[in-house]
Amino acid sequence: MKNIVITVCSLFLFNSSFAQEKGLINNEATPNMKLKTIDFADCQWTDGFWAERQKLCHENMLPNLGRLMDDPNTIHAFDNFKVAAGLVEGEFRGFSFLDGDFYKYVEALAYTYGVTKDESLNKRMDEIIAVVAKAQREDGYLHTKIQIGHGINKFPRKDQQTFETFNKPFTIDFDHEFYNFGHLMTAACVHYRITGKRNFLDIAIKASDLIYEKFINPTPELVAIDWNPPHYMGLVEMYRTTGDKKYLELAQSFVDKLGTSKESGAMESRGLDHSQKRTPFREETEAVGHAGHGNYMYCGITDLYAETGEVALLNSLENVWSNIANEKMFVTGATGSYHHTVSRNNDKISEGYAESYDLPNTVSYNETCANIGNAMFNWRMFLLNGESRFADIMELVFYNSALSGIDLKGENFFYTNPLRFVQGQSQITRDSGERREFMPVFCCPPNIIRTIAKMHSYAYNTSDKGVWVNLYGSNTLDTDLEDGTNVKLSQKSNYPWDGAIEINVDVKRKKEFSLMLRIPAWVDGATLKVNGENVSETLKSGTYFDLKRQWKKGDKVELNLPMKAQLVTANPNVEQTRNQVAVKYGPLVYCLESKDLPSDVSLLDVVIPQDIHLTPRFDANLLSGVTVLEGEAGILEKQDWTSNQLYKKLEPRQLNKVNVKLIPYYAWSNRGKTDMSVWLPAEWK
Ligand SMILES: [Zn+2]
Repeated sequence: MKNIVITVCSLFLFNSSFAQEKGLINNEATPNMKLKTIDFADCQWTDGFWAERQKLCHENMLPNLGRLMDDPNTIHAFDNFKVAAGLVEGEFRGFSFLDGDFYKYVEALAYTYGVTKDESLNKRMDEIIAVVAKAQREDGYLHTKIQIGHGINKFPRKDQQTFETFNKPFTIDFDHEFYNFGHLMTAACVHYRITGKRNFLDIAIKASDLIYEKFINPTPELVAIDWNPPHYMGLVEMYRTTGDKKYLELAQSFVDKLGTSKESGAMESRGLDHSQKRTPFREETEAVGHAGHGNYMYCGITDLYAETGEVALLNSLENVWSNIANEKMFVTGATGSYHHTVSRNNDKISEGYAESYDLPNTVSYNETCANIGNAMFNWRMFLLNGESRFADIMELVFYNSALSGIDLKGENFFYTNPLRFVQGQSQITRDSGERREFMPVFCCPPNIIRTIAKMHSYAYNTSDKGVWVNLYGSNTLDTDLEDGTNVKLSQKSNYPWDGAIEINVDVKRKKEFSLMLRIPAWVDGATLKVNGENVSETLKSGTYFDLKRQWKKGDKVELNLPMKAQLVTANPNVEQTRNQVAVKYGPLVYCLESKDLPSDVSLLDVVIPQDIHLTPRFDANLLSGVTVLEGEAGILEKQDWTSNQLYKKLEPRQLNKVNVKLIPYYAWSNRGKTDMSVWLPAEWK
C-alpha cells in the first residue's frame, strides 16, 4: 500500500522515514511518466508460464547461483568482498566488473524475498550486506579489484593484467567502476523498498556521495573513464529513493559530458563510438557501440528525461529507439549484431550495434544482457505515455532473447544468442551451441535470473486512467489507484500457449476507471466480452484498448487474442534473411532443431512453403511443456560439398517432403548438441 503523505515528506527530508514506495522504480512523483509502477507485493503469478519460472527461480536458480557466487574456486565473487573486508586472506580473482554482477544476485534475492517472504533469503542478504559494508572504505569507495590490489585480474590483454599499473581508483575505464557502482545503487534501492532496511542503502549513499564529490566537476581524464553506465539509472533511482537532488544533478552532468571528451580512455583498442562517447547525446540519431552499454545508457537517459522533461533528450531517445526497432533489432528482440565490428566513424566496437539492417544469423552476438537492456529501455519508454509499441518489444524480449539465455533447469547459461547454429561451421558463436554453468564473464547469469525474479512487476501499471494490463497469464493483482481506490484483479490464462484471458474484478464499491488492455501487434481479430456481453468496438492491434466503465465486484472480462502460427519475413534490406521466413506463435518466436528431423536430413536443406499449414500441439512432456508447431515442409535433395569448395555449377535438386516440428526459440539447446535455425528458406509458389 502506498503512503502518499510519507512520499511528500520525503521530497524535503532525508531521514529514516523517507519514501518507501515499493515499485521496481520509484516513479510515484516522477513528472514525465504517466504510468506508475505497482508495489512489489501487489502482483503474484499464480499458475502457468511465469509462475513456474519464478518457482524454479526460488527453488533452484538462486541456490545454484549463490553456490557459484560463494565458490572461491570458480567465480570468487563473494570471496573478493571477504578479502577486501579483511575477513579472509586472499587475492582478487576475476574480472573487474564481478562486484556489479554480485549485486545483481543480491537484487534477485530481494525480488524473490518480496514474493515468497522466505526468511532464509532475508538472512542471506543481511550476511552479504554486512561483508560488503565491511569492505567499503571509509570515504565510500568500494571496488574489490582495486582495493585488494593483487591477484588474478582477468583482463583481456597480458599487459593489462598487472595490478601495479591499474590499482588506483578512477584511473581507467576498463575497471568498470561505474558498472559496479551503478548496480550497487539499483540493488540497494530495491533491497530497501522490499525489506524496509537501510543497511544496503546506506552503503550506496556513501558510495554515491563519493562519486558526486569526485565527478560533479570532473577533469577531462575523469570524463574519459565514464564507461559502461548502469550508474545513470542508479543515480536517478538514488534521487527517487532518498529525495536528494544532487544525485539527479550528477546523472545530468554525466549525460551532458557525453561526446565532450576525445579521450578514448585506456581501452584504446576500442573507439569512442564503442561507449557512445563520440556524439553528444542530444545530437544522437542512431544506436551505436556496445549494445549492453548502450541499452543501459538509454535506460538511464529515459529516467533522466522522466524527471527533467528536457525535450532534446526525448527526441534523441526516440531517434535511437526508432533506429533499433526498425533497423537494428533481431526478430527475437535481441540487439548487438557482432562480436567485433566498426562504427560508421570507423571506431572499433565490441559486442555491438552494426550498420542498419546488418542482422546476421550464425555469427549474431546478442548478449543476454544487451537483450534484457533492450526490454528495460522499452519498459521505461512505455512508462512515459503508455504506448503499446514499447510494451510489445518488452514482451518480445522476455519470451525470446532474454529467456534463451538460461536453460530449462535454470542452471546453465548462454552469453550469446545467435539465430542459427550449425555444428562444425567455422564461424560459430563463443558459446558453441551449448549453455554452460559457469563462464568467466559472469554478467548474464545473474541478469536473466533477476529479470525472471521481478517479472511480476512488469505485469501491471497504474495511471490516472486506471489499471494497465501489460502481461498476460494467471496472476492476482491487489493495488491502489491514485485516488486510493483499492482494485483487485484475478487473471486466468494459459498464455503464451493460448490467447484466452479471463480477468475478474473486485472493488469494494462501484467505481469508474479504465482497464487498459494491451492488444499486441501480432494479433488478428482480438475479441472482448464483459459479463458475457460482446464489446462492439474494434480492438486495434498494437494499441491499448481503453475499457472504461463503472466496475463492481464480480465483473468478468474475457479477452481473446487468437493465436496461430504466423510466417514472418524481414525487410529486404536485411541481406542475411532475404527469401527466408521465421515462424511466430503469439509472442513466441519458433525455431527448428536438427533433433526433430530424420537423422539423414540436414537442417540447411529444409524449405518452408509459403502456404505451410502448421498445427499447434501442446506437449506437456517436451521441454518442460511447450506448444510445438507441426507441419509438412520441403526438403532439398542432398548435395555433395567438399570442405574446401566455395562455389560450383548449379545442379538441379529435387524438392521432397519432410515433417517438421518447430519449438519455441527460448527452449533450443536443451536436448544436447543440435543444429538450430530461426530463419528458414521460403518456397514461393
Ligand atoms: Zn552479460
